[in-house]
Amino acid sequence: MSIQSIHKLSQLFQPISSRIATAKKFQIPSKSYENLIKYGIIKQINSGMYAFLPLGLRVLNKLTTLVDNEMEKIGAQKILLPALTSVDLWKKTDRFNDNATELFKVQDRCDKHYILSPTYEETICALVSSIGILSPKILPLKLYQISNKWRDEIKPRLGFLRSREFVMKDLYTFDVNLNHAQETYALVCKTYDNIFRNIGVSFVKAIGDPGLIGGSITHEYHYISNIGEDIVYTCSSCQYAINKTITKELHCPQCKQPFLEQHTAEVGHTFLLNTKYTKPLNVSCRLNNVSTSLVMGCFGLGLSRIFTVMIEELSTKEELRWPKHLAPYTVCIIPPKKGSKEESASQYVNKIIEILDQLNIDAILDDRTNLSIGNRFMHARVSGFPYVIIIGKSTMKFPPQVEVHSINDSTNCEIPLDNISTYFHNESIKT
Ligand SMILES: [Zn+2]
Repeated sequence: MSIQSIHKLSQLFQPISSRIATAKKFQIPSKSYENLIKYGIIKQINSGMYAFLPLGLRVLNKLTTLVDNEMEKIGAQKILLPALTSVDLWKKTDRFNDNATELFKVQDRCDKHYILSPTYEETICALVSSIGILSPKILPLKLYQISNKWRDEIKPRLGFLRSREFVMKDLYTFDVNLNHAQETYALVCKTYDNIFRNIGVSFVKAIGDPGLIGGSITHEYHYISNIGEDIVYTCSSCQYAINKTITKELHCPQCKQPFLEQHTAEVGHTFLLNTKYTKPLNVSCRLNNVSTSLVMGCFGLGLSRIFTVMIEELSTKEELRWPKHLAPYTVCIIPPKKGSKEESASQYVNKIIEILDQLNIDAILDDRTNLSIGNRFMHARVSGFPYVIIIGKSTMKFPPQVEVHSINDSTNCEIPLDNISTYFHNESIKT
């Protein structure tokens, strides 16, 4: 990386809107939503349909990599299914009529009907069964994808919190029997715990409502958040938590403590489906010369919802704050203003780029040196860059110093160039 190749603010596609016409419509106040729109992180294209702009997409891509790494560890194989699913397939499992109003429907020139898929249990079963009867050797089979999904929400709101097009990771597992499927289920839940711990925003795992997908065991992963629409009962003395909709109890069954009632946003859901989909769609393996229906699990992770809720939980009204390792750029470098007394300190930019490059830390240079340092610093704070290195007045000291601001922690310090490396080592940023 050099000053020629580093990404520059002057060239960034970050359309800033001074007025947000839609803001007044929302009853529940959000700290981050208006800033996401105003500072060009995401942009609404149609009602409930948003574009990820470059800064937003960098966050989503980092989140995707984090999830891919955890999926890889449990041997899940990544695929990509078509967006359209045949209506006939959804009729085989009786799901079409039950959900018809929430589905986007499409018709081709031969009058064949499709839906824009909100979920893929049918498609994955059709794919696996089309291969024929499986050999038990391939089991447990774990297939997942990260793709856009659609639901014709009646009331889309707050960006990707309730959007009509969203990004979801969906994993489907197939096992030879219920015992094995329970082991796989436990393994994936442990992986989900890891993913949420790695993201770093505190979460609750609650006994879930099977809803329209069904299943015998189901858990939900929630972020505690005022912008959420779910209510979860949590126990103050143990880990027990349950979705309010499926219990009449007011006390934890494990330790009899009264429940705490908390507003949450659901961001993940796991289901042990048994043979609900594999039986009607003939997903089976050969066991002692008999063909047996496989036991299926499905595991969703709402990546675009995680995106919306994690920024809401970490941000202030004035600053967008991402988990540091998921921020669009970890560091923003601000060189001196053109014509200022410190202008000659611009020579340090190259050195700083080199240091960050060696640490494998991604950075963007705010090269708009016609603007004051203060102006550009404000911009860095609202754009969601967790660290800002300012090459300003303190470079006049001996030895020359730079200001390093940690936005998420509201701290700053002046350090010599040679200490930048140690500073970030101590911050232990994983990018
Ligand atoms: Zn308890």
